[in-house]
Order: sequence, then structure tokens, then C-alpha cells
Amino acid sequence: MPRPIELVIDMNALRHNEAKMREAAAGRTLWAVCKANGYGHGLANCIKAFEDADGIAILDIEDAVKARELGWKKRILMIEGFFDAEDLPVLEKANAEVVVRDLRLIELLEQSHIRHIACHLKVNTGMNRLGFRPAEIPAMKERLQKIPCVEYKGIVTHFANGERSYTADGPATVARQMQRLGDLARTEKGVCLAATTGILFHPEVKGDAVRAGIALYGVSPDSTLTSEELGIIPAQTLRAKLIAIQHLEPGEAVGYGSKWIARRPSRIGVIACGYADGYPRAMPNGSPVYVAGRIAPTTGAVSMDMMEIDLTDIPEAGEGDWVELWGKHNPVNKVAACAGTIGYELICSVMPRVPVRTVG
Ligand SMILES: *Cc1c(COP(=O)(O)O)cnc(C)c1O
Repeated sequence: MPRPIELVIDMNALRHNEAKMREAAAGRTLWAVCKANGYGHGLANCIKAFEDADGIAILDIEDAVKARELGWKKRILMIEGFFDAEDLPVLEKANAEVVVRDLRLIELLEQSHIRHIACHLKVNTGMNRLGFRPAEIPAMKERLQKIPCVEYKGIVTHFANGERSYTADGPATVARQMQRLGDLARTEKGVCLAATTGILFHPEVKGDAVRAGIALYGVSPDSTLTSEELGIIPAQTLRAKLIAIQHLEPGEAVGYGSKWIARRPSRIGVIACGYADGYPRAMPNGSPVYVAGRIAPTTGAVSMDMMEIDLTDIPEAGEGDWVELWGKHNPVNKVAACAGTIGYELICSVMPRVPVRTVG
């Protein structure tokens, strides 16, 4: 028997969210972003659930190969391009399209002996991670188009602050990034601009294609908005069972470092989930879990394989009950906020030792 912990992936939720984003894409090409093992939901599950998408967008070269082995016949976009010359024949064989983000990649394409690869040019409009400055694009495009193996597809950019709640007048607002992109947004073909926040919150950002990530998994990209408000359904549930109950006297403590001390006679539940399962050790006292239809607070430091919660006010919860660490009843963004992070990080951090169960 495995430990009583599991990561449950709801295929119907993935399908529902894909349909939702398809609708929001309003006729534009929909890339389903499945990087990081499908944001922790499993590449194979994503490929099945997102079969209506126009393509998948991924990062790891081996994922392109894996996706083809799993039977994915539609387009594949490598959103970070490639990393070395030897990646090119692998990507050609997988018929994957690449994002070209700097001069070194153009040189590798010029020197390569492959016969065909579709390329998108990355424009740096203010994120300042990858890509060419807008003014460099015409020259780079011309250079790319001269390479015999290259099929030029268009341009890609990425927004740093697309959330609806982002109202700062910062250096990289969507408006400023669009301004930097300038005429390229209109004159170029194959323009791919928006990720989830752009799709949901910035109808003024048009383009021919979009890259939907987090919303496909049912998690809001803006922690001030819930999944329900966006009409999406959380597809990932991390849950584990209560494996012990402890009765504490006032003044007694729970766990390493005695970080939680009982102020009243307390009933403490021990859950079979720890930081080696992907539940952050940084989670403070009072972080929410869902058990027996209620929210209970965590108590004490999360240990490697276990964590504890206060069940004093939930007497109906007992040994053997499932506790939802995050999922449909306990939004991952709320949990993440307690540790100063975002849902994105938690959903892709569940460790391989946790058994995955696919439903729907
Ligand atoms: C991860 C990523 C996306 C998807 O972002 P979401 O916020 O999850 O929709 C889109 N484009 C690029 C370049 C990315 O790295």
C-alpha cells in the first residue's frame, strides 16, 4: 500500500477549462501551455484533455519527443526555443516549432544541416528576460528568412503584469509593452501576444494566437479573483489522510521547533503529507486545509513527511479522513498566499513520490 496521499487530476475540469479558454480566445489560435509537466498535471493527461487546442506549448526538448510518442499530432511550440545545436535534429524529427530569442540561436540555425524548422521571433517588449528589441525585429526576420531550413511564422511576446489587479503605473504595464511593440502588432503575421491574463483581462491585446497556461488548470492568474469568478474549475487536488490524533494540554507544543503551543485543551490531527511531498515548509501556523467539510488551521512546522492541524473545533474529523491540502474546496492561491507565493508554484511542486490518480 502506498502512503495515504494522492494527487488527483480531474480530466473533466481540464476539458472544461480548455473549452472556456477556447471561447475566450475568440477565434485566435489556442496554444495550450503544458510546460513543467503540464503545471504538475502530467503531460499525458494534458495531451488527452487538450485535444481540441491548436497546439501545445512546452519547454523541455524531451517533452516534444514524449508528446509525439503519446500520439500528439497537432502543433508543438517550444516557447523557450532550443538550447544547443544538437537539439535541432531532435526538434525537426518531432516537427516542433521554435521561438528564436537571440543571435546565438540564429547562428545555430544558419550552421545547422536540418532541412526544415518553423520559427517564431521573440520580441522583448519590457519583460527583459528573452527576445530581441522591437527595433531589431525587421533585420532578424530578414536574416531568419534567408536560412533555407527556416519557415518563418511570426512574432511572440510576453506580458509582465497582465493581472486585472495590477494597476501600478510601472515600467512594464500591458499598455507600455504594447506601445513598445508598436507597429509590429499590426504589420506582422502570426502575432502571438497574450497568456492567460492577456486573454482574460486585456481584450485590447489582439493578435492571431494566444498561449493559455494557468487557467487551463483551473487556477486564477490573479489572486484577487477566484476560479469561480473566472468560470474555471481547479483540476488538481492534493490530499492526504489523517494518520493520528493527539490530545494536548495547554502549554504543550506541536512539532519541530515547538512553533505552535496549545492555549486550550487541543485535539491535533497528523496528516500524511510533508514538505517532501511538495507542501511548502514555509507554510505558517493557521494555513487552511479542508477536512470534514470545514476549513482547519495548520499547527506547527511542516515536517518532511507529516504536518499537523488543529481539530479541536471539528470533533467529527478523525483518523482515516481525507484532508484536502489544496483543490476545489481549498483554493491553491489562498494556501500559497500564506507562504508568500502563488498557486502557480504549488501546483507544479508536488513531488514524484506522491501517487497520481486521474479521474473523469
Ligand atoms: C508560462 C508561459 C505562458 C503561460 O502563462 P500563464 O500565465 O500560465 O497563462 C505563456 N507564455 C510564456 C512565454 C510562458 O513562459
